[in-house]
Amino acid sequence: MMTTTTFPRLPPSGISVIIVGAGFAGLTAAIECHRKGHSVVLLEKAAELRPLGDIISFGQNSSRFFDKWPGVREALEPLVHKSEAVNFFSWDGRFVTTQSFAEEHRAWGSRVNGHRGEIHAAVLRHALDCGINVRLGRNVVRYFEEEDGSLAGVETDDGERLTADVVLAAEGVRSRGRQLVLGFDDRPQPSGYAVYRAWFPADEVRKNEKTRHLVEHGDSHNGWIGQDVHFLAAAIKDGREMSWVCTHKDEGGIEESWQFPGRIDDVLKVVKGWDPVVVELVKMTPPERLFDYKLVFRDPLPTFISPKARTALIGDAAHPFLPTSIQGASQAMEDGVALAACLDRAGKGRVQEALRVWERIRYERVHKIQLTGITTREQWHKADWDAISKNPESLHLKREAWILNFDAEADAYASYDAVRDELEKND
Ligand SMILES: Cc1cc2nc3c(=O)[nH]c(=O)nc-3n(C[C@H](O)[C@H](O)[C@H](O)COP(=O)(O)OP(=O)(O)OC[C@H]3O[C@@H](n4cnc5c(N)ncnc54)[C@H](O)[C@@H]3O)c2cc1C
Repeated sequence: MMTTTTFPRLPPSGISVIIVGAGFAGLTAAIECHRKGHSVVLLEKAAELRPLGDIISFGQNSSRFFDKWPGVREALEPLVHKSEAVNFFSWDGRFVTTQSFAEEHRAWGSRVNGHRGEIHAAVLRHALDCGINVRLGRNVVRYFEEEDGSLAGVETDDGERLTADVVLAAEGVRSRGRQLVLGFDDRPQPSGYAVYRAWFPADEVRKNEKTRHLVEHGDSHNGWIGQDVHFLAAAIKDGREMSWVCTHKDEGGIEESWQFPGRIDDVLKVVKGWDPVVVELVKMTPPERLFDYKLVFRDPLPTFISPKARTALIGDAAHPFLPTSIQGASQAMEDGVALAACLDRAGKGRVQEALRVWERIRYERVHKIQLTGITTREQWHKADWDAISKNPESLHLKREAWILNFDAEADAYASYDAVRDELEKND
């Protein structure tokens, strides 16, 4: 039995897997299922996968997967953020503390932070190089399972019907797979917060004397903390590109598109009176590079798998994360890695057991990590500045070994038998 692996591919397992959605959850599941010898079809609604989005972060717990996929870490190297520390300021520009990540990089490996679209393109390239059947422009409109539980399947909007041993719904927050798994449609709820997000070439940042220091020594990472607002800015690609995100209160509706445009004037109202560095960064942002993303939340689902245990929700379809957890994409990837390992461990005759064990392995971990999104936001947005002046490090991001120094593949193999025995005992 494998524990943690760098092999290119195991012999065919005979297990067929349909994956819906080619985000990080779907792509990771596809690559890992392929590596374990399962046969994969990946269906993606978009006709073309353009490099959309802006900054996204992968902790050590997920960036370790890039190392298992030949050539991917090398492809990411020129794209990723290089600084090993973040400087924190109060909203009005008083320096508070620097948090270094150098020690955890030494102990647990390096993180990967960079442009979501560029990293996604590198992972997609790897999936295609592996020969995985990625079918673009396939919009899945229905999920189903055979009455006797022998197969699961999907239908696309042009009437194509496909079946497999397992279907993984990895279509993000607006997942249609939830209907089959839960038996009802649940709507995402507004979280009460939204994020303005921007990514643009850093030429103007370098020309402006108030912001030049952010890019002149290469990559940098800085955060400003205010009442119910925080602003994080990262210079990337040796200071040639700039990205910032500003999380703020928002009672508006819940648009979930990454294309929803933001307005510079609206951001300037949010950061009125803030450090001139922040105000200048906002002012110099090209308007077409600014997006306003409403953060949605969902209560934890009662389950991630269908009653017949042939269909599983993975990634944001199962558990949308707030950005302040810095774990959404990582947990989406862990889902796919653990699931491929459970299928390998179970074999074709026990696919339903594999899904049940996988859910049990993932459920508590994912939901505990989801909550860190709220605790970090509150730690910053409700900052007690008297307490912080005595203990500046209380502003630091919590970097916990149980989250970051973790290998979902090794864990799935190590836990499988005990979890299966426990499930059998409770049946
Ligand atoms: C275009 C885009 C840009 C993003 N940009 C950022 C960013 O800048 N920063 C950040 O932190 N996070 C970003 N995210 C979110 C982040 O990628 C996810 O939260 C996280 O990685 C979890 O990934 P996921 O695969 O579960 O879901 P997602 O990344 O949402 O992927 C879901 C995929 O499923 C496809 N899909 C949806 N419905 C169907 C259907 N019916 N049939 C077939 N395919 C379907 C979608 O087109 C999409 O490719 C972005 C997501 C998307 C889709």
